[in-house]
Formats: sequence, structure tokens, C-alpha cells
Amino acid sequence: MPELPEVETIVRDLRPHLRDRRVEAVLSLNPVVLRFPSAESFRAAAEGAVFGLLARRGKFIHAPVSGGDHLVVHLGMTGTFTLEEGDEPVRPHTHLRLQLDSGQELRYRDPRRFGRVLLGPPRQLELARLLPSLGPDPLDRAFAGWPGEGRVISSSRAVKAVLLDQEVVAGCGNIYADEALYLARLRPTRRAASLSAPEWARLGAALTVVMKEAIRRRGTSFSDYRDGFGARGEAYESLMVYGRSGLPCVRCGRPLVAQRVAGRTTVYCRRCQR
Ligand SMILES: [Zn+2]
Repeated sequence: MPELPEVETIVRDLRPHLRDRRVEAVLSLNPVVLRFPSAESFRAAAEGAVFGLLARRGKFIHAPVSGGDHLVVHLGMTGTFTLEEGDEPVRPHTHLRLQLDSGQELRYRDPRRFGRVLLGPPRQLELARLLPSLGPDPLDRAFAGWPGEGRVISSSRAVKAVLLDQEVVAGCGNIYADEALYLARLRPTRRAASLSAPEWARLGAALTVVMKEAIRRRGTSFSDYRDGFGARGEAYESLMVYGRSGLPCVRCGRPLVAQRVAGRTTVYCRRCQR
């Protein structure tokens, strides 16, 4: 599932190419992935709209368009959002095709259809709870003080579960939660309330490090993820624990173990993570 680094890579890829581009036509739209508004209203609002500068909010792609609306895309499990030449063959499971005045097409594809597309004023989408409220972002400068005082540090939930909560940290998912906990040498099953202030600081710093490193490698293509131009990312080769259950810990050599935590397969080292 695409997480912060994958979505950030797509946004950075597409941003310079979409800026000031006009949507000539909505060539196809599958209502299954459209959460808001209706397909009719979507077409009416999208056609003729001009893109501003793309941004990322958590795992959401926000593409502002003229008039104040945002085209918002969440990639779900298997979504891709790519810029392609108009004459490129359309692959199966392509649910949205926007024809641009550059002759290119912006295509949203999602075989498993857990993703979603919205179009509207962002504040209104939030108020209608079509978009979640998001916690601090590991790429923001202000993230240094994460998680601060409050309910997070007194939570009885496992620290892994806390990291998957988008209101606690925006953009983190299963891959980078495991990676950050490994880097911070913390056992994923620890109750959040048991972490000391230095441990929280270590974890916050680790989140930023693993996200930035994965962006440098253009994201993790475990299965479906592709960048803004349809290419695979290379961060998978640099992952230290995710997908490596049974393989030796790169730090101590002991086999990594897998355990279900917060409903998700979680990989860690029994010796290095206390
Ligand atoms: Zn180890």
C-alpha cells in the first residue's frame, strides 16, 4: 500500500508537469472510485479546470484546480496515478482518464478499488468527513516536537498501532512503521504509555529518517506501486525489516520474527528491539 514516501514521489513527479495544464476532457470515469461529487458534477467541474501546484497531505494527493476545488486522490491498496502520453494503451482497471491540453493523459488505475477520488473545496470535504483529520507530518519542520503532550503518550495501545493512526502521524503505514520502530530499537508491541521521552524522540527522528530515505529511493514497489510516470521505486532493497521475516537482522544476525500487531503483520528483531 502506498504510504507517505510513495505518494510524495508521485506528487513531486507530477507537480511540474501538471502546473497550469488544463483539463480538456474527462475521457472516462468509473463511479465506483468516485466518492464526491456525482459523476455528472465531477465532469462539469473538471472539464476546463486548470491545475495549480500539487501537494501531499498524509497519503492523499491534493491537486488544486482553478476555482478553489481540489482533485483529491487516495491510492488505497493498489492505486496508481500516472501521467501518460495520450496514445499509450489504456491498461485494464483504469478508472479515471483526464485529457490535458498538453496531449497527455492523467490516469488513475486501481485493480482492487480500495482507492478513492474526490473533487471539491478541501475544507468542505473535511467538514463532510470525506477526508480525515490528519496528525503531524514527518516531513514538516514542526514534527521535531512529535508527539508532544496529550493522549498519544498515555495511550494503552501498542506503539505500532499508534503509528498506524493517521491522526497521530500522517502518512505512516505498515512498511514504515516497522522500519521506524527497528531504527529506533523499539519493540512494536510496547504499550505507547511505556515509552520514555527519549524513546519518543528517537521514534520521531526515525520516522523522518525512514521516510526521507524511501523518498530518495523513489518509494517501495512491493507489488503495485508505481511513480508518477509508471516506473517502479527502489526502496524495497533498502528495507531493514519489512518483508524480511525469518531473514537475519542486519544489526545482530538473529532471524527477524513476524507477529500480528494491531491486525497487521509486524516484523522485528527480538534482540535489537526492546
Ligand atoms: Zn537484531
